[in-house]
Amino acid sequence: MKKAVYPGSFDPMTCGHLDILRRSLNIFDEVIVLPASNSTKKSLFTTQQRIDQIRRIIAAEHLEDRVSVDTFDGLLVDYCIGKGIWTIIRGLRPFSDFEYEFELASANRGIDSRIETVFLITNLQYSYLRSSILKDLARLDGDITGKIPECIKDEFIARVKKG
Ligand code: ADP
Repeated sequence: MKKAVYPGSFDPMTCGHLDILRRSLNIFDEVIVLPASNSTKKSLFTTQQRIDQIRRIIAAEHLEDRVSVDTFDGLLVDYCIGKGIWTIIRGLRPFSDFEYEFELASANRGIDSRIETVFLITNLQYSYLRSSILKDLARLDGDITGKIPECIKDEFIARVKKG
């Protein structure tokens, strides 16, 4: 059974994240989505809200047999060691991601050489999509259809508008 974790801030999960998750299931039997609870980024949603949102997305996409959600507090590598999972999935967008991801993957493998990071190249249609752009679009009444999963869209717009 090939297992992997997919960590991120997922604040919120976008269609770009979901695309990476779906495609990772072509390679792995089971994936654990891990919204970080110790992110240095100031988040819009609490960890529990992000977990609930991801659960709803997994159910709407009928992925619950192979995808679960968890969270972790300390080092990602310690979480992986505790679970006996040695593969981390990350999505790679052009321009913005490579250097940061290179450092992160090297740092994680430096802590435990059993850990490998697998990168999936973003689908072109999501290559510019990031949570911060979605927030700006929603705040300014832009159309975010097809950029965020439908089942969390209204909650996201309401939260952004609240300020
Ligand atoms: P963001 O950079 O949008 O805040 P996260 O920190 O939640 O995203 O990122 C989690 C992982 O998902 C990272 O590997 C990131 O590169 C990837 N990712 C984020 N947005 C996309 C996208 N639109 N397409 C592919 N991968 C993405």
